[in-house]
Amino acid sequence: MENREKPEHQSILRLLPSVDALLRSETAVRVQSESGAKYLTGAARQVVEMMRREIIEKENNNFAAESSRADLLAKAENYLAEFHQKEEKIKLQKVINVTGVIVHTNLGRAPLSENARRAMVEAAGYCNLEYDIENGKRGRRGRRADKLLANLTGAEDALVVNNCAAAAFIVLNVLAAGGEVIVSRGELVEIGGDFRVPDVMAQSGATLREVGTTNRTKISDYENAIGENTRLLAKIHPSNFRIKGFTKSVGIAELAKLSRERNIPLYEDAGSGAIFDFSKYGLTDEPIISKSIESGADVVTFSGDKLLGGAQSGLIVGRREIIEKIRKHTLYRILRVNKLIYAALEATLEAFQRETAEREIPVLQMLAQTAEQLKKRTENFAGKLSENANLLCEIAWGKSVIGGGSAPDVEPETMLLLIRHQKLTAEKFERELRFSDPPVIARILADKIAIDLRTVSEAEEAELSRVLRKI
Ligand SMILES: *Cc1c(COP(=O)(O)O)cnc(C)c1O
Repeated sequence: MENREKPEHQSILRLLPSVDALLRSETAVRVQSESGAKYLTGAARQVVEMMRREIIEKENNNFAAESSRADLLAKAENYLAEFHQKEEKIKLQKVINVTGVIVHTNLGRAPLSENARRAMVEAAGYCNLEYDIENGKRGRRGRRADKLLANLTGAEDALVVNNCAAAAFIVLNVLAAGGEVIVSRGELVEIGGDFRVPDVMAQSGATLREVGTTNRTKISDYENAIGENTRLLAKIHPSNFRIKGFTKSVGIAELAKLSRERNIPLYEDAGSGAIFDFSKYGLTDEPIISKSIESGADVVTFSGDKLLGGAQSGLIVGRREIIEKIRKHTLYRILRVNKLIYAALEATLEAFQRETAEREIPVLQMLAQTAEQLKKRTENFAGKLSENANLLCEIAWGKSVIGGGSAPDVEPETMLLLIRHQKLTAEKFERELRFSDPPVIARILADKIAIDLRTVSEAEEAELSRVLRKI
């Protein structure tokens, strides 16, 4: 860089602390104990260089000419602390979700059950991932999870990959690459996070054969599109999107009949899907996986961390020959999951097997809470905040959100705690919450912080009230 130092800069640049001086400061000692000497030296260099540039380049920098050496060192320490704090904020860490969005993709989707958390910790050491304890020989990875999945969905076999996008990709690639897949135009959706059905299809090597129109597709549309290159009939759940009004779509049972007649396998991407009927929670649109299998789908994919309430994974269930073909494919070796995911998933599926899922799985507990229960919890909780005179609390009915690209038109009724801070704007208040320990992630509604306890576990309530009382 050209030298832009002017004479008036010289006097202040001479006061700039050396990297060594900054390294000896109290802040540096703390940063080093947390992150090591190498990291500290790099950070200190960047801070001093940043200050040097600020002095030279910014006309109105806040380094008044009368700054002393001590002032500049203090400033450098502040910058170093800020630099370090920024780094700490991007560390993966627990947050409290008061947004009322249950499957919050930005916040890690489904929070795991206590049993799933314990299972992950246990599997973190040596475990029988690919070892058969009974025979003392090598065993197959994922046997238990595959078995539980098959049993719970009535499918012949099952398989787990990294996420539902991977599941869709591997199904399309293994069953249809080089051929055509017939899909309704009403199902060519973008789920979010860059999952677009036509793009996944193109990547998989299969050719998309669109049929019907955006709002209406009939069985004859599929029938007429079948040709010698057709490899698969596919039904994709529209997830975060609904078409209303003059509409028609073809159900799995009807498609299965055509699939059998023409001897072309039927694939359903259920997205979130449900292990049992969720209509008592108002969720009437989620495919029940066992129903899809029973109705004749040959292979079905769904997510492990949406309404199933487990860890990130893509679950594939279906006919034995199909699952076995996928299992033997190189892509499966590439897309398979690790022992921690299997541990969490097994524990989650076991809760469904025991029929204790509604008591154990956080996502289901959150769905099951009634507006009346939430009203009681919220009133109770608001009472505990009264000792912070800065908080002006009121409660009001509101809506929670399912999230995760599921059920866009289902908004369970909830009781919101709306808080205004006497001394802070809503934006500042929201930032304070985000910067607290643990960070609290909240929505702003009409200049107030809105707290929806639906997504806060009872165990987290104490932490949340401690944070709120301190602001
Ligand atoms: C969510 C969803 C996906 C992607 O699932 P991920 O687990 O996020 O990879 C694919 N298809 C449908 C229909 C979905 O709803």
